[in-house]
Amino acid sequence: MDPVIIAGPCAAESKEQLFTTASQLRQQFSESEIKLSFFRVGVWKARSNPNAFKGLGEIALPWLKEISEEFDLPVCVEIAKPEHVDVCLKYGINSVWIGSRTVVNPFDVQELADALSGTDMTVMVKNPIVPDLHLWAGGIERVMKAGISKIYAIHRGFAELKENVLRNKPLWEIPIELKVKYPEIPIICDPSHIAGNTQYIPTIAQIALDYGFNGLMIETHCCPNQALSDAEQQITPEQLYNMLHYLIFKSHNHSPDEELLRKQRNLIHDIDSQIAELLVKRMLVVDEIAAIKTLYNIPIIQSNQWNKVVKRYQDNSLPDEHYASFIEKFLELLHQQSILRQQKIKEI
Ligand code: PEP
Ligand code: MN
Repeated sequence: MDPVIIAGPCAAESKEQLFTTASQLRQQFSESEIKLSFFRVGVWKARSNPNAFKGLGEIALPWLKEISEEFDLPVCVEIAKPEHVDVCLKYGINSVWIGSRTVVNPFDVQELADALSGTDMTVMVKNPIVPDLHLWAGGIERVMKAGISKIYAIHRGFAELKENVLRNKPLWEIPIELKVKYPEIPIICDPSHIAGNTQYIPTIAQIALDYGFNGLMIETHCCPNQALSDAEQQITPEQLYNMLHYLIFKSHNHSPDEELLRKQRNLIHDIDSQIAELLVKRMLVVDEIAAIKTLYNIPIIQSNQWNKVVKRYQDNSLPDEHYASFIEKFLELLHQQSILRQQKIKEI
């Protein structure tokens, strides 16, 4: 699968802004081996502040239809209400995304899914602004249940209360978990909304590509400093071209059976079998310990004993803070599981 590249302004501001941006994109990418897949633009903007620019609404739709025909590029817009689906269909706009503020509300998503049902639209589901994998997955499932087959997930980061260098926290473990749950759904990263500035877009985009994301959605504007929304994070079509040609795209066509990889995978497979067996063995010994504790009336919690276990893992660790914190979490779970087993046996 070729990378899915989605580019275009945050919001539709005028016919001229849309056409200038689209024609600059065409100019930049006409001979590029990287192809644009969609022109993106918000016509109905969900703004926190009621006085902020809300987008032009329906009047921009005929211009977008023209753009998609003239530049031979599908256009996608954000939908938040069922009537938006009807307006898109009226103007032949067949690709839409559900925004991060909408995905937090299952009622809204269901209404959109009902409106989309029976159409042949491409539907992209952004992650909800809150870090809740189930809400995101639920949004995708509602769209799937509506019979939509062309679905993309878009990772745009998660809102954070405290100010940070990034506008939204990436929390990569969430989109990775989504990808594991739905391997067939392409996942696109939106580094523009994660970064909130132009400086960090390339780094975030590269991390996403390294993970194996299937594409990027990048806010692109002919004159970013005049943009009526998200001015700090929009780049020009020329900057987009330069960035995409500098990023390293991973190949999704390699066979996972390549010799070197296969050998290591076999090793991992054996190690995992041993870990699984050892964990079961460990639990069975825990059961025996529980019986002995019952027999001699010894309390379940034995802090000194447990601290010795922790120390053994710490003495046999890797000099790496991520590994240390993984072991800490793992041991916490192991201890909980062990206590739970001992309680269960005592109750019998
Ligand atoms: C957008 O893509 O323009 C947008 C509003 O994004 P999000 O819903 O991710 O904030
Ligand atoms: Mn935006």
